[in-house]
Amino acid sequence: MLQLSYKPYLLQLKRVFTIARGSRSSAPLILTRLTFGGQEGFGEASMPALYGESFESAAAFLSQVDLSQFSSPFETDTILQYVNNIAPGNQAVKASIDIALHDLVGKLLNVPLHQYFGLPAQVMDTSMTIGIDSPAEMAQRAQEHASFQYLKIKLGTTNDRDMINAIRSVSDAPLFIDANQGWKDREEALDMIGWLKEKGAVFIEQPMLKENKKDLAWLRLHSPLPIIGDEGIQRLTDLREAPDLYHGINIKLMKSTGLREGFKMAITAKALGLKVMLGCMSETSCAISAAAQLGALADWVDLDGNLDAQNDPYKGAFVTSGQLHTTGKPGLGLENTNWDAIVPCSIN
Ligand code: MG
Repeated sequence: MLQLSYKPYLLQLKRVFTIARGSRSSAPLILTRLTFGGQEGFGEASMPALYGESFESAAAFLSQVDLSQFSSPFETDTILQYVNNIAPGNQAVKASIDIALHDLVGKLLNVPLHQYFGLPAQVMDTSMTIGIDSPAEMAQRAQEHASFQYLKIKLGTTNDRDMINAIRSVSDAPLFIDANQGWKDREEALDMIGWLKEKGAVFIEQPMLKENKKDLAWLRLHSPLPIIGDEGIQRLTDLREAPDLYHGINIKLMKSTGLREGFKMAITAKALGLKVMLGCMSETSCAISAAAQLGALADWVDLDGNLDAQNDPYKGAFVTSGQLHTTGKPGLGLENTNWDAIVPCSIN
């Protein structure tokens, strides 16, 4: 019988992380475990406050999940359809079940999940993200992360040019730019994108508000750099309008409800001629190891969320010299998993 258990867990970050819409020094997680036939699979929900989920909403959702009605974890689509239909929204907590289920199935089949999805193992040049800070601090971060092939820079302030100039004084790494909807005027955004191209930017993530479709469509037509939808692209159905607004999409398991739909999004995006980026939230090595299984489908990879964590209870996909590797072990490929040793935090 399939059995689900979970623990609330507070992920502490090494430093305060700031983007155009707010700051955080920790992230509430739900860690999940699914057991079946003596095997166990692990999953995770990361729920930064900006995205509308919380310990309380996740606990309320999980209290409605009854997986004992399913006799086999291999009915993956059926099980995940059931989970999806319990309530709308709740993407991260849905992902925590999806990831655990896939980990379990991969282990039962004794294959790493990239193989289960028909993909080769991929060594990925992941970017390292630098949050908004003083230009001097951001330059310092850029120096600390000199081993990375790409830096991802959070912009969307009135100080964007100073930040980029400071980083450029210490690093010539190509830059992924994420404005997190922070730019207000499309002409100014286009000016900035032209300037950023001169400064070695590769693409621009979510330059303007996701609701501002008229300006996004205009920017897509005029921008000299690819425009990538992140906040504006959550799930598979959002791909219907994506080709009019963006050149590519940022797939995050915490938005897509997990690997199953994330895989479908990547395949569909490619069929529509869209670029594929893999991204993350503040996560442990569990969710990062999950996303890394889809690496072969990505044009660009930003899977660095676990590198900023102080209390990651898992070990899995790992970075050496700026390159992200999966472990090649079955399922997510996690090592040294000890569920009983993980100390939950209290929900209050
Ligand atoms: Mg983003």
